[in-house]
Amino acid sequence: MAGDNCIFCKIVAGEIPAAKIYEDGRAVAFRDINPQAPTHALVIPRKHVASLSEAGEADEALLGHLLRVAARVARDAGHAEGGYRTVINNGPDAGQTVFHVHVHVLGGRALTWPPG
Ligand code: 5GP
Ligand code: ZN
Repeated sequence: MAGDNCIFCKIVAGEIPAAKIYEDGRAVAFRDINPQAPTHALVIPRKHVASLSEAGEADEALLGHLLRVAARVARDAGHAEGGYRTVINNGPDAGQTVFHVHVHVLGGRALTWPPG
């Protein structure tokens, strides 16, 4: 079910605008509103899943799909060769602020490790 007052469910529903760069039957990708790299996209499932920890066995294929869409978004942005990073923040210690699972796709600059 859509999460009540979930901002990403509203983006999926078209109720609030987003700069979408890819969508299919299961996933939507759009530009992060506060980009941390020249390419900073978010890949989300149409289905409301609050976090990676909340994803169940029935979501396994969906999680795999999100990663494949992330790779596609990175490739389309020109980062297949140079590289890019995917990130899923989970819970408060990781800084998760939106509780609808999302894969960050970051690219276009050298990314440091470990992340902050
Ligand atoms: P988190 O910290 O939960 O891993 O990441 C949430 C991300 O969503 C942040 O990078 C933030 O900039 C982005 N974000 C929050 N609200 C919106 C919004 O309304 N539109 C877009 N495009 N990105 C958003
Ligand atoms: Zn949601």
